[in-house]
Amino acid sequence: FLQINNLEKFYGEKDNRVQVLKGLSTGIEKGEICVLLGPSGSGKSTLLNIIGGIESYDKGEIIINGAAMSAMNEKQTTLYRREHLGYVFQFYNLIPNLTVKENIEVGAYLGSNPLDVDDLLHTLGLWEHKDKIPSQLSGGQQQRTSIGRAIVKNPDLLLCDEPTGALDYNTSKDILKLIEDVNRKYGNTIIIVTHNDAIKLMADRVIKLRDGMIRKEYTNETKTPAMELDW
Ligand code: ATP
Ligand code: MG
Repeated sequence: FLQINNLEKFYGEKDNRVQVLKGLSTGIEKGEICVLLGPSGSGKSTLLNIIGGIESYDKGEIIINGAAMSAMNEKQTTLYRREHLGYVFQFYNLIPNLTVKENIEVGAYLGSNPLDVDDLLHTLGLWEHKDKIPSQLSGGQQQRTSIGRAIVKNPDLLLCDEPTGALDYNTSKDILKLIEDVNRKYGNTIIIVTHNDAIKLMADRVIKLRDGMIRKEYTNETKTPAMELDW
């Protein structure tokens, strides 16, 4: 589903050019939950942003659903981001003056075949909060809303950068369970970037980065449900 071949990325110009991705290759299958681990600065967010079409790359290739990213023009990249991709951030990035429901409707508007917003509000456990604005919500409720906004267009690929980074233990597990439920219900391919080593147990595939390279990659025969994770 997602093929990455010898991906290289540099930041900076000439004399202070730094290589942050040093020839990554991997393949992620449709419907997999992939957990991307690695120390701070190892290139996790950079990789995610490249896959998300937000950042460019310098060498190698990314092939998504059979289409090479390098061959997409600007319009095709925009369409790919809008229709096929959901993004969840550590700090939610909700629109502050829109309600929960309206924030999710923004996501629905972007996709051509969106899920039913009211159904989703129930699935997310947000029905009774649907008319609140983000500042009236807890962190976990805000993150639920941002997951709703990302998945309402039913994207093929859901990218989550530290989705539980700002949340406490119990709320983190709720959010991870929600991601797991979404994966089971809609079959989206999901990549979760995290610092939390325990989360690897709920993954189908685990990729560990270090210094811009893949240090370790494996698939789990048996997964641990999010609610049974412990750290
Ligand atoms: P963290 O766990 O702290 O979020 P990360 O693994 O996500 O780290 P990246 O954000 O991908 O790491 O950064 C990888 C490297 O690229 C770091 O050394 C960082 O300083 C550098 N870097 C990231 N963005 C830029 C940028 N816009 N310009 C220059 N260097 C950058
Ligand atoms: Mg990061």
